[in-house]
Amino acid sequence: MIRKALADYLDLEHHTLWQLSTSTAVVEGVFGDALHVRDLADHGDFGIGTFEQLDGEGILLDGVCWQACADGRLREAPPEEGIPFWIATHFESEQRVQLGPVSSFEQLGALLDPHRPGANLFVALRIRGMFEELLVRSVSRVEAGATLLDATRSQTTFSHQAISGTLVGFWSPTHASSLNIPGYHLHFLSDDHRHGGHLLDLKAASLDVDFDFQSNLRLALPETREFLTADLTADPTAALEEAETNQGQ
Ligand SMILES: [Zn+2]
Repeated sequence: MIRKALADYLDLEHHTLWQLSTSTAVVEGVFGDALHVRDLADHGDFGIGTFEQLDGEGILLDGVCWQACADGRLREAPPEEGIPFWIATHFESEQRVQLGPVSSFEQLGALLDPHRPGANLFVALRIRGMFEELLVRSVSRVEAGATLLDATRSQTTFSHQAISGTLVGFWSPTHASSLNIPGYHLHFLSDDHRHGGHLLDLKAASLDVDFDFQSNLRLALPETREFLTADLTADPTAALEEAETNQGQ
């Protein structure tokens, strides 16, 4: 009985996507700290997000939270650092495939698509390999009142050659576009823990991909004054599209 309950609980944990706040709130500039880096351990060991006032790109891998700052530094995020938006899961590979060669972000998506179970489930993705070319960006800390588009217009992009590492992220369905960014959203962490960021483009001869299909969603809405008073009625689609793919500079 107890073992059954525990197994059910763990199974739920393993196929559960935990999300803090919504993409609509991020587009509207709700960037204050709703929780802290130390809280992530309760919800997963794998994921992506950002920090208070958009202070860099977040990568959670093997239970360690990394912060890729706009000046190019990568550091382990301090436990007390605030987080306004995050997606996490307890990652467990359900399917592994080898893909390649890959010549662009768009092509990576096309190669991954047939391995997803339709267009309506969330999928967590862990992609490892040697990247011949990699283009990532990091957003920089903004003042209160700025929106996501303001922030990405002043982002910094970094290009790397022959760099090995892991892409951490998710595919989200279009039906959940007010909650999350539809399509593939991946952040990079180099194996030497010196570089990271939000993936914009890549080239690789061969990549190892692990899939974890997510059929449960737990949404944590911030109870901060900033979130409670934000106007979240607008459709975020166009702004998200621009913010997530802008290769700027
Ligand atoms: Zn991102």
